[in-house]
Amino acid sequence: MPRNQVSDIMNAGRESQGGMQATAAATSGMRFVETEKLLTCVHCGLCQSACPTYLELGTEADSPRGRIHLMRGLEDGRLEATPEVVRHLDLCLGCRACETACPSGVPYGALIEAARPWVEGHRPARARAARRMLAAALTTAWLRRALLAPARLAAGISWTRGWLAFAAALPRRRRGPLATVLEPEGAPRGTAVLVTGCIADSLFHDTNHATAALLRRAGVRVVVPRGQGCCGALPLHLGARDRAAALARSLARTLSETGADWVVSNAAGCGALLREYGHLLPGSDGATWVAGRARDALELLAELGLPAAREALPGAVAIHDPCHLVHGQGVQAQVRTLLATIPGIRLVDLPESDVCCGSAGTYNLTERAMARRLLERKLRHVAESGADVIAAANPGCLLQIRAGALARGLPVRVEHPIDLLARAQGV
Ligand code: SF4
Ligand code: SF4
Repeated sequence: MPRNQVSDIMNAGRESQGGMQATAAATSGMRFVETEKLLTCVHCGLCQSACPTYLELGTEADSPRGRIHLMRGLEDGRLEATPEVVRHLDLCLGCRACETACPSGVPYGALIEAARPWVEGHRPARARAARRMLAAALTTAWLRRALLAPARLAAGISWTRGWLAFAAALPRRRRGPLATVLEPEGAPRGTAVLVTGCIADSLFHDTNHATAALLRRAGVRVVVPRGQGCCGALPLHLGARDRAAALARSLARTLSETGADWVVSNAAGCGALLREYGHLLPGSDGATWVAGRARDALELLAELGLPAAREALPGAVAIHDPCHLVHGQGVQAQVRTLLATIPGIRLVDLPESDVCCGSAGTYNLTERAMARRLLERKLRHVAESGADVIAAANPGCLLQIRAGALARGLPVRVEHPIDLLARAQGV
């Protein structure tokens, strides 16, 4: 295939929306995406300036509109899955900022999610095997523990370079396992089943304790089933849809058996997928049950309200909006409302607060160069903000920004809003 096929597809898309539709109708290509979803894009380009990779590279093929053209080209057989095409799709963070910006309601997240498993089949065998191994390692408890053990040894030491900065950014684990049932303080207002997460529980276990304590304070009975495992988000990022579905089916069964009123997560990446369980597992009652009850912990706490804070936390706090919280779940104002109730906190602006930090699930493991560029962009804004604390409600963002700040010597702490609220509540 000539190398300019990608630009031909881009030009064709710009020139004629009608022509694209006619071609799509007469196709013989692969059917990996629902064509109707692709056709909702009217190529207006209003999503371009929200896309982190377009902001960095300025190339049409690395923008939402460009990637939609590529998917259509693949789907209707005008384009082959050459390494160049796969590269443009791989560079997509799956952040869904384009969905928020799109006035036509294009479900971009569903499109790229459908394309990823198909793209996997077009990689060289070694790359495919490496990605499968990564998905297995991250979602298998004993393998994950073995992988994280060396990082744990290095944790707390002031490393500032490369992966050692990530080890230094790991919080110390101070608490033991959570009880399986925690009764509410005061009159019960409902029951929540807490999704502890896989990586999230391995790295930010104490934040799960803080989440449970805050929910109890808000009058919620909290149940924490043992052996929950991964929700499926990490393998889905890597295109391992079958593995993601198997993990999701198991978790949906465990969660739905509790009969809780809410399914609560404090990890934005997990929470966004829980809401999509009905699409991931069509026809599964358990998945539909989970999707209908999934709530981010901050969203539920904002709705139920917390008693007045017991301690002041003086300082300037800027909020980073994780993609899967703001774009994936529409949760943004609630974080600000909750933190504004803490005496002493002065909320300051973080420019581009809803632009991806480069973490994006497994993206900072598989696309290190772009992940570093986006982290640098985020850190420039962190430095400009003058904040003492950056609040980020997602484990991946916490680790990414914390490691970057350490490596750059920025005098800023990076914390989950849940941990700030727990400290203010004295729990
Ligand atoms: S995805 Fe939406 S905003 Fe972007 S080009 Fe298509 S219709 Fe326009
Ligand atoms: S998901 Fe994010 S990176 Fe991918 S096209 Fe949309 S805005 Fe760009």
